[in-house]
Amino acid sequence: MGKPKVYITRQLPQKAIDMIKEYYDIVGIWEEYYPPPYEVLLEKVKDIDALVSLLTDKIDKNLIDNAPRLRIIAQYAVGYDNIDVEYATQKGIYVTNTPGVLTEAVADLTWALILSVARRIVEADQFVKGGEWWRTKTGWHPMMMLGMEVNGKTLGILGMGRIGRAVARRAKGFNMRIIYYDKYRLSEDLEKELGAEFVDFETLLKESDILSIHVPLTKETYHLIGENELKKMKKGAILINTARGAVIDTRALIKALEEGWIAGAGLDVFEQEPLPPDSPLTKFKNVVLLPHIGSATTETRTRMGELVAENLIAFLKGETPPTLVNKEVLKIRKPGFD
Ligand code: NAD
Repeated sequence: MGKPKVYITRQLPQKAIDMIKEYYDIVGIWEEYYPPPYEVLLEKVKDIDALVSLLTDKIDKNLIDNAPRLRIIAQYAVGYDNIDVEYATQKGIYVTNTPGVLTEAVADLTWALILSVARRIVEADQFVKGGEWWRTKTGWHPMMMLGMEVNGKTLGILGMGRIGRAVARRAKGFNMRIIYYDKYRLSEDLEKELGAEFVDFETLLKESDILSIHVPLTKETYHLIGENELKKMKKGAILINTARGAVIDTRALIKALEEGWIAGAGLDVFEQEPLPPDSPLTKFKNVVLLPHIGSATTETRTRMGELVAENLIAFLKGETPPTLVNKEVLKIRKPGFD
């Protein structure tokens, strides 16, 4: 057999392309900024052995059924809610992701959002650039742009995995009380190291001044934060989401912001991406919106690309890919192309 064929659904850092090229025949790379339409993907997967996918590519049963030769889907992201992993497993298809290498970048961005919302950074920037500071001749005023003090407050973390923990570590410098809720409780040692206290979901909602979401999107976490939950939060609380948009019920969040149930929000992810410019979310001054750039640093994106390549190469050599998502697939098919 010649080199196995791979299709790549977006331009990746060159390092990754070079690594993949050595072992695979890259039959195509989707060159546009927008994702390949579903119909295009359906066509592309017909004759490939491997697919490099992004979170914007819907990889469902139908697509998998259209790809009889497909043996591995190497996702360029840690989240994989766009892939029907269960079905891929049934079909003996390996699914890999890129955990760990993006943790610090996402934690940094989470903190950028926390501070932006708490200290009204974006609003203040617009105040200066828009000329209002000049027009109002304010100079320095005791009541100008007052925000929320972060130091000493309670940080609530929903989902204390890799990113949740990295966010908690950064909170130490702000002398915060850290509480968390997760499906699984951390070890006592890790709790001690992080200075984090395990609480139930209800307490997390009620006691957090800043609530930061770090759970994956699953059937269980879909709309986990809805009207009931938002109503339980403090009026002065800030909600941060750098996980997945659909963990929050957007309609409920808009209502909460309109009616002042919470003080503000910082969002990197949305139920609909890209977010339409006429979304009600865009009208709130106390909301900071980012275009899903959690892992967007040159270093991290390069490392993610390398990990995608490492997974593809290990699979080709008959080894278990380093960051395999569906470990059960090992029982169904051995790694490698036949
Ligand atoms: P992780 O698997 O290390 O952590 C997730 C944590 O959530 C785990 O501790 C898990 O036990 C917990 N969890 C899962 N289901 C839960 C539930 N129903 N209730 C409570 N806790 C639950 O993952 P990670 O590497 O920390 O990444 C977290 C998520 O962040 C990813 O799944 C992805 O969706 C998102 N993410 C976003 C960006 C971005 O660009 N904004 C970048 C990377 C990751």
